[in-house]
Amino acid sequence: MPNVDSVKVAVRVRPFSQREKDAGSRCVISMNSNSTSIYDPRNPGHMKTFTFDLAYWSHSGFLKDENGTFISAGSNSYAGQREVFRDLGQGVLESAWQGYNATLLAYGQTGSGKSYSMIGYGANRGLVPSVCEELFKAIQSQEKNKQYQVGLAQTVIYSQDLSRLKPGGLKIREDQHQGFYVDGLKLVPCDNYAQIERLMDQGNKMRTTATTTMNASSSRSHMVVTIQFKQIFLDEAITKQSVINLVDLAGSERQKSSGSEKDRLKEGTRVNLSLTTLGNVISALAEAATGKKVLHIPYRDSVLTKLLQSALGGNSKTIMIAAVSPADICYEETLSTLRYAERTK
Ligand code: ADP
Repeated sequence: MPNVDSVKVAVRVRPFSQREKDAGSRCVISMNSNSTSIYDPRNPGHMKTFTFDLAYWSHSGFLKDENGTFISAGSNSYAGQREVFRDLGQGVLESAWQGYNATLLAYGQTGSGKSYSMIGYGANRGLVPSVCEELFKAIQSQEKNKQYQVGLAQTVIYSQDLSRLKPGGLKIREDQHQGFYVDGLKLVPCDNYAQIERLMDQGNKMRTTATTTMNASSSRSHMVVTIQFKQIFLDEAITKQSVINLVDLAGSERQKSSGSEKDRLKEGTRVNLSLTTLGNVISALAEAATGKKVLHIPYRDSVLTKLLQSALGGNSKTIMIAAVSPADICYEETLSTLRYAERTK
């Protein structure tokens, strides 16, 4: 039985960037409890309000609008990496221990904070390292009548191609029972967190190199971190297995037609196609979770959704973080991110 809250959506607004501060940008977002409002900077007084499961504010105190045109301030208190992990990462781990799959995705325009939420920077660890570290901590505190296996794979999807920076790349195949799976996807067995950290460093470099080789920006690629977690119950000779996918999606911004060469445009269209397909899949799943009869879930329409199929739907937990900028100059993209997130609820 699919459970009703199998799809969860959170929105996270990042602090102002230096560029936005220098440009004197105003804040167009406010958050109160789980509602997020966005103000139209060209149309004072006009705003839209969205309700998601969670809303993460990144500013301490209130923001003042010097011009007095409109006031936008969040009543939510500052939420850092720790709060985000507590609300979202912890749930993913709980599913994994129960033997359920989970997929956690970060969506938003380039520069909106997807990598910050997923990977993090320096001491501000994001969800991927925190989930891995906590998983190993929990394993260490378990009783000894179980054995554990953790495997990690990192896949970059760029323009509908799968790449692990190996000649030939990877192929998606379909199996009658398994659904879609990635042929040749190699899970690297990991015994401790330090090993995962090293692999992740390599993975991030791989994403940059893979995309540079293909002459593209890494923001046009999806990065999927797959963790396979197996528990072997020695006394009972049974195994519980779970797959967790943590996904830093390609930037959702629309490709500007000016300055875009034909290839870049094609690439942009494909990225947008895979994001659109993902939205369609998640919204179909959310609908199915409410008990509605959904006849078709369009997994096969993109490489990304094919890859994620086994950990999307059914008893899997799906969590989407919609990352947004607070600034007026990003209004259009932020509104489109909030609309996308709303569709997937
Ligand atoms: P994206 O992955 O969406 O392109 P990044 O995660 O690289 O965006 O974020 C852009 C910049 O904003 C980075 O310098 C990052 O450190 C900063 N940033 C993003 N989100 C936050 C946050 N919640 N708190 C503090 N800084 C953030």
